[in-house]
Amino acid sequence: MTNLAMRLAGRVAVITGAASGIGRATALRFAREGAHVVIADIDVPGGKDCAGEIQSSGGQARFVEVDVSRESDLIRMIDCAVTTFGGLDILHNNAFWARGATALETTADDWQRTLDVTLRPVWQASKLAIPQLLKSKAGVILNTASVHSIVGLTGSAAYQASKGGVLSLTRALSLELAPHIRVVAILPGTIDTPANRDVPAEVHEAFLQNVPLARRGQPEEIASVAAFLASDDAGYITGTGIVVDGGYTTR
Ligand code: NAD
Repeated sequence: MTNLAMRLAGRVAVITGAASGIGRATALRFAREGAHVVIADIDVPGGKDCAGEIQSSGGQARFVEVDVSRESDLIRMIDCAVTTFGGLDILHNNAFWARGATALETTADDWQRTLDVTLRPVWQASKLAIPQLLKSKAGVILNTASVHSIVGLTGSAAYQASKGGVLSLTRALSLELAPHIRVVAILPGTIDTPANRDVPAEVHEAFLQNVPLARRGQPEEIASVAAFLASDDAGYITGTGIVVDGGYTTR
């Protein structure tokens, strides 16, 4: 394991969707860089496992069961950071829900659930976190958007509408919260997480034809960019998104 700079030493971070995939890798990375991490997820075993892994390697973490579509859960999540670790410096909005479907196939319930989990909490958790982030000298809101915030794909209409919204909201919040809080997005391409495990092999192969680096990214390759964006090393970056996609959107 390489030695890491402790760029997040003593910072308090809340990460939604941290029981799995990108959120989990980011929680582990933030903790290795010295952050105290609140693991927020609807998946209780996965969330406890992530917090336990951080604690057993000497880091600070607390799991809180959260459905991000419920305001009362988001309130508990922010309270957990304050009561457990004394404040909040970094909010990482990362949880999502989607069902693969074209616009024609999408039901009103699926549309609503996608936006309720993937887009609305980005605004609502941010709103709840702002008073705490304003007390920090290094407040950051980091939103997991997607390459599909900026380029299209068939079969995920509601998801893409949500992710377009996440990037737009990143810009809007960044203007409202400057110069006190930075607001940044990360736009992953196709990453090797449980969210992608059911993709049929032929669809996966066809997708990789369009990825110059010819492979899926690893969650740790998103986590390392997330740690940079959350740290003072990215102190002059706000209101924009960083694409991490193996070159997919270059063509
Ligand atoms: P994942 O399925 O591994 O993790 C998603 C997590 O969100 C899970 O732990 C799940 O329990 C949690 N979650 C779902 N609904 C929730 C709810 N209502 N409340 C709280 N938590 C909930 O997926 P991932 O690939 O790590 O995705 C993380 C983020 O990255 C998402 O925002 C996703 O859109 C984005 N992303 C992923 C990819 C990719 O290829 N994997 C590409 C672009 C963007």
